Amino acid sequence: MVKTREDLLASDTKNVWHSMKPFQPNSTVVMKEASGAWVTDIDGKRYLDAMSGLWCVNAGYGRTELAEAAYSQLKELAYYPLTQSHIPAIKLAEKLNEWLGNEYVFFFSNSGSEANETAFKIARQYHLQKGENNRYKIVSRYRSYHGNTLGAMAATGQAQRKYKYEPLATGFLHVPPPDTYRVEEGNGELLKSVQAIDDAMTWELSETIAAMIMEPIITGGGILTPPENYLQQVKRTCEKHGALLIVDEVICGFGRTGKPFGYMNYGVRPDIITMAKGITSGYMPLAATAVKKEIYEAFKGSEEYDYFRHVNTFGGSPASCAVALKNLEIFERENLVERSAQKGKQLLSELKQRLSDHPFVGDIRGKGLLIGIELVSDKQTKTPLDVERVNKVVTRCKEKGVLIGKNGATVAGYNNVIALAPPLNLTDDDLTKIIETVSASFVNL
Ligand code: PMP
Repeated sequence: MVKTREDLLASDTKNVWHSMKPFQPNSTVVMKEASGAWVTDIDGKRYLDAMSGLWCVNAGYGRTELAEAAYSQLKELAYYPLTQSHIPAIKLAEKLNEWLGNEYVFFFSNSGSEANETAFKIARQYHLQKGENNRYKIVSRYRSYHGNTLGAMAATGQAQRKYKYEPLATGFLHVPPPDTYRVEEGNGELLKSVQAIDDAMTWELSETIAAMIMEPIITGGGILTPPENYLQQVKRTCEKHGALLIVDEVICGFGRTGKPFGYMNYGVRPDIITMAKGITSGYMPLAATAVKKEIYEAFKGSEEYDYFRHVNTFGGSPASCAVALKNLEIFERENLVERSAQKGKQLLSELKQRLSDHPFVGDIRGKGLLIGIELVSDKQTKTPLDVERVNKVVTRCKEKGVLIGKNGATVAGYNNVIALAPPLNLTDDDLTKIIETVSASFVNL
């Protein structure tokens, strides 16, 4: 029997535990179908999804090719673990290596959190394999988000996401991220935020540091684009202290920033790269930890001790890999990475033209189709705008049928950044609608 709208909402309120949402009866939007950049709820109301779900649906909704890839693979070989191998995983690893320059091997899992946990374990064991017995600490940045598991949460640099769940994994420490809007100056040689990394690694003892993890652009913590030479300086600092550099590409990967991967904007080669979300454009759960071949080599040996003792039942399942492969084929066929760069430039410059003079708009920044609008109550002091006003922008856009994001970090009130990350195949009309709706929502704020 088809349930009525009221039945569905009541059942949702009663049975489904939603993430990141206050308990308000019947307050969820129940989505039913989607196509391109548009999602439709059970009332038939359509929304332009300018957040790609949760920064996931890079190739857009409604791709029957991806559904068919899953269906064919499920019929042929529904499941086999990667303790052995299967064709879709082999092909996908090969294709990912084409994107990354053939320097990596891939450990598959199901989510960004797992990909990061895998990276931490690989980094720790790698040093042991080399006879460095005390390198276990992982450095990350305040404002970053790296996942919901105890290790990934320990790496996360936003207290409000962690403090109720402590104790978390130990051996994680944090340094400030670069904030180019709130001044980032060097001491002549290093940027201030890189000096903080160098100091932390020095004072904690280089010999105890396993790795640093960072997103190329901090996304959930407020779309913080770094100074152009920041990543190169971080990489050199890690090398100086013997630490590996793990780059979290869970959001920035797969064309989001106008390059295949976010780090490629900044001229560095990470030791480990983690990826999820856009790898299948959200159509199937899949994640990967890409590890430089020379790191992988250190795990080779005849002793059982040398194995990487890490198993993942569903990681790299055949259908997920088949969907990812087809997804990457679509990216290549439709030049989605290049499209992200072009459309992102257009979006950024239009928003700047229309909104830069608004008294509450402090900064508009981003790369590709990853754009943040930082709202302040005073352009001189750069005081974050109160969250009620920020929410008003989000609500007004939703009422006009455009779903946008809001983030930052609630600690210290930095919950003041509007986020835009639409599907990379959005149409020109979609782009215009986002620009017009977002701009209009600032009138009489
Ligand atoms: N890293 C980053 C940068 C993320 O944004 C996220 C999820 N939003 C994760 C890791 C964790 O991914 P997942 O939710 O798939 O575990």
